[in-house]
Formats: sequence, C-alpha cells, structure tokens
Amino acid sequence: MEKIPALHLEDVRRTYVQGESELPILRGAFLSVWPGESVALIAPSGAGKSTLLHMAGLLEHPDGGEVYIDGKPTAKLPDAARTAIRRNEIGFVYQFHHLLPEFTASENVTLPQMIAGLERKEAAKRANELLAFLGLGERLHHRPSELSGGEQQRVAIARAVANAPKLLLADEPTGNLDPKTADHVFGTLSKLVEATQLAAIIATHNLDLASRMTRRVTLREGKVVELE
Ligand code: ADP
Repeated sequence: MEKIPALHLEDVRRTYVQGESELPILRGAFLSVWPGESVALIAPSGAGKSTLLHMAGLLEHPDGGEVYIDGKPTAKLPDAARTAIRRNEIGFVYQFHHLLPEFTASENVTLPQMIAGLERKEAAKRANELLAFLGLGERLHHRPSELSGGEQQRVAIARAVANAPKLLLADEPTGNLDPKTADHVFGTLSKLVEATQLAAIIATHNLDLASRMTRRVTLREGKVVELE
C-alpha cells in the first residue's frame, strides 16, 4: 500500500487583521509529515509556530491553501467534520499539561477514549498499558498534583495519543521542565513515535532535543524551510 503523509500542508495562507493593518503570518506554507517521523519546528517567537500548529490541528481555518490529514482535504469541511477528525486523528500536547486535577492519571487517559465511544474497561486497559509504556506503571492512581512535572507531561502525552491519532502536535511540550526531565520526557515521546508510527510536529526552542528528531524546519517569511 502506498504511504500517505499523516499531514500535508499545501500552500497554506493565514493573515491576521489587526485594526487597519493586515499581518500575513503564513504566506504559502508547504509541509509533509510522514508516519513515524518527528519534525522539530524551530523559529523565533512571533514567527507563526502556533499558527501553523493551529492550521495543522484544524483549530483555525486557513485563508488559502489546503490541509490534508491522512490524505483527506479538510479546508472546506463543515465544523462538525473537522471536529471529528481533530478528535480521532490528531493529538495535542501543550506546554502546560491541562490534566483534570480531580481525576487520576489512569482516568485522565481513559476519559477521552470513553468520549470516543469505548467501554470503560477497554479504555482503562489501554490507558494503563500506555502509561506503563511511558514509564508510569507505578503512578496509575496518582492525581496530577501527586506527580512530578515530568510525570504530568508524560500523562498528557498518553492522553494525547489515547485515541490512537495519526498526528501528534506539540507546542513546547518540555518548555516548562528542567533540562534533565525535558530530556527524559522527550525520550519517551520519541519511543512512542517510533513504536506507533505516529507523525509528530514538535515546536521547541531546545536545539539539543531538536537535533534528535527526524527533521528540523523553521518558518521564514511565512514559509516552511527545511534546516540542514
Ligand atoms: P509563535 O508561536 O511562533 O510565537 P504565533 O503563531 O503565536 O507565533 O503568532 C505569530 C504572529 O501572529 C504574532 O505576531 C502574533 O501576535 C500574531 N497573532 C497570532 N494570533 C493572532 C490573532 N488571533 N489575532 C491577531 N494576531 C495574531
């Protein structure tokens, strides 16, 4: 079977209007990310990293161009269809974990699967397997406040991939962690990408971590440019 990129941005354009002035942020961005690939997105603040992730994650509409998720064009789909793709095919990790404080690690990873229609027992089993894979087998029943920063972020990663998405989008996922913890969280994330053939875009300022990803890209004048 022919391989399809998990994400393909085709000539994506996005301009913000600020009062009288127009701020073109993406000006014809092209990018393909393939299964099993992790792409570091490295660019200065304000270059448009979050905007690109919002386009890829179907959180905002492009003003022009097309966003293909697993080969399917999405720009003209109604909101309900975009939401369904976002839920089923895309996982998000942010700088802050946004876990539900009153639920355990296991429950935080079980819930999105139940929302997607899985039975609780099946969902909990997968949650616990995922958490164990990420080195949290001994922390299943801890609440977020009872976990370290690195552990919280690993639970957030498990939650993001709970519904087996094709694409993982991460905005500075280790930006809030000390270097050693960041390194460890990143290591588990890489292991997951490899094992599940996820495609991942990870916006980061950490050049050391970026150097360990499959590819590195930046944004220049609203376009995606490959680095070295
Ligand atoms: P980065 O993530 O690389 O720091 P962003 O994608 O967040 O950059 O933002 C790129 C530029 O677009 C910034 O100058 C920001 O101020 C502007 N911007 C982002 N979102 C909006 C918005 N909703 N309305 C107006 N301007 C925006």
